[in-house]
Amino acid sequence: MEPDIQNLIERLGENNIPAVFVRNRREALEEVMSLIPEGSVVGFGDSLTLRQIGVVDALEEGSYTFLNPWSPGISVEENVKRKKRALTSDVFVTGTNALTLDGKIVNVDGHGNRVAAMLFGPSKVIIVIGINKIVSDLEAALERIRNYAAPLNVKRHPGFDPMPPCGETGICSDCTSPWRICNKTVIIERQYDNNKYKPVITVVIVDENLGI
Ligand code: SF4
Repeated sequence: MEPDIQNLIERLGENNIPAVFVRNRREALEEVMSLIPEGSVVGFGDSLTLRQIGVVDALEEGSYTFLNPWSPGISVEENVKRKKRALTSDVFVTGTNALTLDGKIVNVDGHGNRVAAMLFGPSKVIIVIGINKIVSDLEAALERIRNYAAPLNVKRHPGFDPMPPCGETGICSDCTSPWRICNKTVIIERQYDNNKYKPVITVVIVDENLGI
């Protein structure tokens, strides 16, 4: 599918979700970092896309308080502490599971920290998505997540023991695994833009295949 990006950006705009389109991961990195003031407390929803475009390295190396729950060597307690603190961060950066052509941002999460911070708390939320995750509608988004993205995401987490069944089969069996990564489904349809509350989320669409 060749998505009509201009039309998608207009649909997002109608939903009060500002969006920018960049040509590649280098431009994406520049765009994201331009939106994060130095000195910010920055929360992070685990995202292969953000790692691929270099945002995670830039935040680790720059003048930020970067709340990376997956920094090597930290304890489970510290992991949870950083996830909680991210809920009131200055800026929360994350990827997303799917974006529909009518401007809905669709996410499925295991622990819930990523979708919670997308919904409310941080002063600014930056969501980065490659064009491979743009889908026609909500049904296609959920199909993509359950039967494509989730099995691959399960596989890339070697710590899941036992591994949810989709990691073996490649398809969703609506499991009850203790490591089920599809516990919380969130659909962001619109956001406020009124005389009291301004939009918090910005979407950066990258003209590359990124993430899973
Ligand atoms: S519900 Fe279980 S089997 Fe289905 S995609 Fe999620 S983790 Fe995999």
